[in-house]
Amino acid sequence: MKSLKDTDSVILDLIQKETERQEHGIELIASENYVSKAVMEATGSVLTNKYSEGYVGRRYYGGNEVIDEVEQLAIDRCKALFGCEHANVQPLSGSPANAAVYFAVLKPGDKVLGLKLDHGGHLSHGHPVNFSGMLYDFVQYEVEEESGLIDMGKVREIALREKPKMILAGFSAYSRNLDWKAFKEIADEVGAISMADISHVAGLIAGKAIDSPVPFFDIVTTTTHKTLRGPRGAVIMCKNEFAKAIDRGLFPGMQGGPHDHVNAAKAVAFLEALQPEFQDYAKKVIVNAQVMAQELMNRGYKVVSNGTDNHLMVIDMTSKGVSGKEAEVALEEVGISTSRSTVPFDTRKPMDPSGLRIGTPAITTRGFTTEDCVELVDIMDKTIQARENKEALSEIRKEVVTLCKKHPLYL
Ligand SMILES: *Cc1c(COP(=O)(O)O)cnc(C)c1O
Repeated sequence: MKSLKDTDSVILDLIQKETERQEHGIELIASENYVSKAVMEATGSVLTNKYSEGYVGRRYYGGNEVIDEVEQLAIDRCKALFGCEHANVQPLSGSPANAAVYFAVLKPGDKVLGLKLDHGGHLSHGHPVNFSGMLYDFVQYEVEEESGLIDMGKVREIALREKPKMILAGFSAYSRNLDWKAFKEIADEVGAISMADISHVAGLIAGKAIDSPVPFFDIVTTTTHKTLRGPRGAVIMCKNEFAKAIDRGLFPGMQGGPHDHVNAAKAVAFLEALQPEFQDYAKKVIVNAQVMAQELMNRGYKVVSNGTDNHLMVIDMTSKGVSGKEAEVALEEVGISTSRSTVPFDTRKPMDPSGLRIGTPAITTRGFTTEDCVELVDIMDKTIQARENKEALSEIRKEVVTLCKKHPLYL
């Protein structure tokens, strides 16, 4: 990064610090991952210079003949990867993608069913502090207190009672497979549009490790930067009958010019995800998560729903007499990144909840095996027990570095 060094050594220093932090820390935040150098090179390219409002072949600016090819490639690869009828690759991120969908197919005040935030849903699925909860009449479904699972019978009851315009299936902190078919049947029964937000599991779906809603659902949104391992961004997929509304909803409805450098990087990430190795990665992500869940439960930790079908789990830390935040802070101290999280029916406050959400996409990308995952759970357990002992924590920090050095990332 010679030019950056000459122009702004302060930012360069910070990038180097962050590189060091990523290289020698363990990333367990379920929504994070490490992209390839190819994805980063596309993101850092001259495509950032271009304005291209509009769509392929229909732009409001000149000079888009190359950009058209880039965007078309991203669209074609997205279609090949997920088998969707129509793909819009322009959303800047997950929340704007969802906003564009709502804008395209709903009117303010329309009723939508979505999973409650503290039961594993996302802010943009109708939380009162989010635009979604302010502009639309979201009715929230929940998980069961005992099992931690979504009861589809109850979802159907709510749908029959509320007659929503749209039913949204998707989550940020739910460790079980959704019954896509059941959601779609309920939507059909009440005449609702079916929407899935697969932001968290898109990589597992692309890697054919779990079932896809794309063949049934009217509209599917996803971020590209979580398990899918692409640049920060999102796509909207839909049936052809919604294509026009979705495209108009996104532009000119919600966004201005697309980020062409990022869309090129999305195309690169889709190409990577189309390779057979990506299917190995997706399977390993799940196996690693299942090993970690089992090892945690063996050590007396309560895992919500008692296991996982995907890349993530929420640990109820009150089973160990600590809060989610205390656990997060202790793990941070030894170089392990996690995110505190509410557990369903949490009695603690959202800023200091009972749970800790962890996930395995990033560690799997850097090559962690199931044996490494067992060692990692050991390290985590030791850390939480030693949370008030600075000396012990600095010894554990060294073990974390050793484990990271076994699986080099960018350095
Ligand atoms: C992460 C996430 C989003 C939002 O993505 P951003 O890129 O952070 O805006 C939307 N929906 C779900 C289910 C998510 O997990």
